[in-house]
Amino acid sequence: MNDPAGRLPPRNWPPLLMFAITLGIALTVVPWYGIVHGYALAAWVAFAVLLSVTELSITCGYHRLFSHAAYQAHPALKAVFLLFGAMALQNSALIWSAGHRVHHRFIDDPERDPYCARRGFWFSHIGWMLRNYPSGDPDLKYVRELQNDPLVAFQHRHYLALAVGMNLGLPLLLGWAFGDIVGMILLAGVLRLVISHHLTFCINSLAHIVGTRPYTTENTARDNGVVALLTFGEGYHNFHHQFAHDYRNGVRWWQWDPSKWLINALHWAGLAKNLKRVPWFKIRRAMLETQFRRANQELARQVSSPRSDELRQRVAEEYERFSKAVTTWTMLREQSVADAKRALVDRWEKSHLPSRLKALEEGLHEQYRRMQLLAAQLGIARV
Ligand SMILES: [Zn+2]
Ligand SMILES: [Zn+2]
Repeated sequence: MNDPAGRLPPRNWPPLLMFAITLGIALTVVPWYGIVHGYALAAWVAFAVLLSVTELSITCGYHRLFSHAAYQAHPALKAVFLLFGAMALQNSALIWSAGHRVHHRFIDDPERDPYCARRGFWFSHIGWMLRNYPSGDPDLKYVRELQNDPLVAFQHRHYLALAVGMNLGLPLLLGWAFGDIVGMILLAGVLRLVISHHLTFCINSLAHIVGTRPYTTENTARDNGVVALLTFGEGYHNFHHQFAHDYRNGVRWWQWDPSKWLINALHWAGLAKNLKRVPWFKIRRAMLETQFRRANQELARQVSSPRSDELRQRVAEEYERFSKAVTTWTMLREQSVADAKRALVDRWEKSHLPSRLKALEEGLHEQYRRMQLLAAQLGIARV
């Protein structure tokens, strides 16, 4: 926010210069060198591999592991994420996570959300880092447990050395090994960094501005398949803000979420454990609640007529059925948790609880379909 006199906060020169210089080189020197000298295949391969590794270190590491504790990782895996996360040049995992937890906690609050999308595309994409906005000050009280993680603390303490070493040292080493030092620095160093920055920034900007809101309409976060394609699966942002502790962002099997697939593979390899998943019933419940909210808003706008009265009646009936299913499911879940606590595994296996829970989940799925038809009859666009 501007101060009371309407002045903008002072410029934050280190990131401003870094973004400007790397973008300038990517737009001028990178194509010029390609035209005049050409790039070795090894430089393109290194560009693609390092872009993927750094982005996945942000999505699977900084975001889903460190910020949200959506799973637990082997120390070796944490070290890899921290090393290549430093290469992504988005600050230390500690600072990144502190800002991100505040973003979730105070989403859309212009005074507190560090990259509040309500302040516009430019601000949420990159502008928030270019000036010393008070909302951008990292509040470490939200990351106490990360401060006690020796690997995270080490990366934070030596961030500058790690970031410079990875961004200059690694391309230099690869360039020397493949006989194209300048080409490697330009592609695997500079171009990779600029593209990786803007892909990540699209999550804070585009994924809060363009897309659908199937799980909640209470904030600006949106599901956007194109953004997911660009961000290794982080574009299913409406789901993510509703269920932030789930290690998946693209929860459906057909949604593009390579970060989820990588975490699954790491789990299979024994490097990740305790992957958190929200039960399907809760996901479906959120979708239905959103449908009911939209239907009721639309019905409130429509003048009374035999047709709208009939639709109103049908929506009310569906809502009653939905409320009953939610109550029963909550009761059965509590019972199953209590059984599990008493270690009555036998009783759990012999009981009808799992099949009853499954039937309730399927019932909600059917209801979701019926509500889709009702929404179409009400003239509600799929948003
Ligand atoms: Zn967000
Ligand atoms: Zn998040």
